[in-house]
Amino acid sequence: MRTIERVVPIKRNQMLRYLLDSVLACAGSLLVTGVLFVFQLYPRIPNIWIPYLLVVMGLAIVRGRYAAILSAVVAFLSLDYFIIPPLYNVFVFRIEEEIALFIFLSVAMLTGHLAAALRERERQANRQAEHGAQARARELTAIFEAMTEGVIVCDARGEVRYTNPAYRSLLALEEDTDPSVLLLNHRIEWLAFRDLAGRPVPKEQAPMLRVLRGERLSDTNSIDLMCHTHKGEDLIVNVSGAPIRDAAGQIIGGVVVFRDVTGQRHIEQQLQYSERKLRSLVESNIFGVVVVDIDGRFYEANDRFVQMVGYSKEELLSGAVTWQQLNLPEYQEVTAQAVGAVLSTGAMYPYEKEHLHKDGSRAPILIAGAMIDHKRELMLIVILDISERKAAERRKQEFLSMVSHELRTPLTSIMGFIDLALLCSDLFPRPLSPEAEKLMDKMETGLKRAMRQVEIETRLVEELLEVSRLELHKFELSLHPENIVTIVQETVANQQQAARTRNIELALPPDELVPVLADAGRVGQALTNYLTNALKYAPVDQPVLVRLEVTGTVARVSVRDQGPGLTADQQLRVWERFYQVAAPGHQGTDRGLGLGLAIVKAIVEQHHGQVGVQSAPGEGSTFWFTLPIEVSPQG
Ligand code: ADP
Repeated sequence: MRTIERVVPIKRNQMLRYLLDSVLACAGSLLVTGVLFVFQLYPRIPNIWIPYLLVVMGLAIVRGRYAAILSAVVAFLSLDYFIIPPLYNVFVFRIEEEIALFIFLSVAMLTGHLAAALRERERQANRQAEHGAQARARELTAIFEAMTEGVIVCDARGEVRYTNPAYRSLLALEEDTDPSVLLLNHRIEWLAFRDLAGRPVPKEQAPMLRVLRGERLSDTNSIDLMCHTHKGEDLIVNVSGAPIRDAAGQIIGGVVVFRDVTGQRHIEQQLQYSERKLRSLVESNIFGVVVVDIDGRFYEANDRFVQMVGYSKEELLSGAVTWQQLNLPEYQEVTAQAVGAVLSTGAMYPYEKEHLHKDGSRAPILIAGAMIDHKRELMLIVILDISERKAAERRKQEFLSMVSHELRTPLTSIMGFIDLALLCSDLFPRPLSPEAEKLMDKMETGLKRAMRQVEIETRLVEELLEVSRLELHKFELSLHPENIVTIVQETVANQQQAARTRNIELALPPDELVPVLADAGRVGQALTNYLTNALKYAPVDQPVLVRLEVTGTVARVSVRDQGPGLTADQQLRVWERFYQVAAPGHQGTDRGLGLGLAIVKAIVEQHHGQVGVQSAPGEGSTFWFTLPIEVSPQG
């Protein structure tokens, strides 16, 4: 049932078509016959069948094969019946007329057939061309739909023919946006084109209008413009476009492509800004700035650095001088630590050291850096000459030291006088009157109080002196041949005595004698500082390990704890005076002044040794120092 229903409409259409074809075929041929008959044109006009052929051809072209052949047959019959004698009869008197009639019929049918075939072929060609055009249009649409750039196609007047989804999303045009917003004038109004300096672009310079005037905006000719989305947000777009021309070269429309480059341009602007910032810093010559690789080869050096080290730029950049050559041996350890930090964290935190000038002099510097190219292991290092600051500090310390000395002398005298006054009051002949006794008591109490204050004052002055001595490397060391094994053993025993509840483990080398030239008291003080720190910062239930090792001509003393550990930056900074780590776990049991490690460093360096720490946050610390082994001439 369903099949029939589907077939019927097709058949009905065809039947109607056949009916119309039949009517036209009959009417066409009969009309010609009617004219010939009425005006008695046969046999006055020779080739009387030509009008029939024209009708057949016309029907073949317009209506197709069936109408043409039917009209040929109707023409043949009506000619025979109405025109060729005897009339109103299908018979013909003359054989030539009979033959002519059949020839006419064959020619008419052939003509109809040929004309219909030609029509069919042309139709097919048209259909193919149409299919091809449709396929190309579909391809183009698919390309436009897939593009991430916004595309708008307009007719010659600039009115919109097509916009792709990217165009609509770029310009915040929603599904339900009124299509009239895309009319040329409206569009140009809300887009509000401006150049990158923010100056408005005149209407006639709008990209689509330029394209419609025949301009091609492509490659180098594409333009960057600022515009608004339909919601008024700012965009930076790169615009390209071209006119669409017909076969005669006439402009019939234009296509314009918008690429959102807002992010890219912002990044470029930021990069330029950062580049400018860095350049101005480098060129200001306040700091020495260099780029070096991990092997110490220079890739860049500014004028300030050249001035600081005394080598020319050519000497530095040719590879003739390396970073290591500017390094003093005593800073090798700290430099290695800084390089380790930059390799692992990408940053070298500021630390102070000295470098070697070409003329052999030393200059104090503050140095910091960062890895700028991990692949090539290139570091940017900033160096600040701190000679001035150091000189000022030294002057300050000298002044402090002088002042402390000057203060100590009167304090000693005051103490002496108070002592004398107390002695005198003791020696005063007694008994005294009750009033005098009372006065004497009051005086003694006052003198004792004054004595306590003077004692506090004296201790403070002593501490100040110690710090300034430390700064000026003016420790008065009394160096003697010593056995470091004994110093370590005694110091550990003293600490164990002081902190009985704690577990201090000691690991000594097989040799019983490790000779050093040292101030035993000061070396003991250095180890004590390490030990008290370890006991202060490590958990009470964890052991502290003191180890003495001998490697070559160096004795190495280390103290390992299970405390909070230190970051790479903290490891560099703990040696500074008054530096204290401001982090949980670093408060310790009793708070110091941040001087202990600075004192250790000063003591060890006076002994021509080195200090250092290996640590990581949460993994404890190993503080160490080395002393050169001194084999006595007798030994
Ligand atoms: P302080 O008297 O404050 O301990 P130091 O110079 O001895 O001064 O130490 C400087 C800082 O280094 C300390 O404040 C502490 O934060 C840190 N520090 C020293 N030793 C250790 C350690 N063994 N474990 C963790 N942090 C330590």
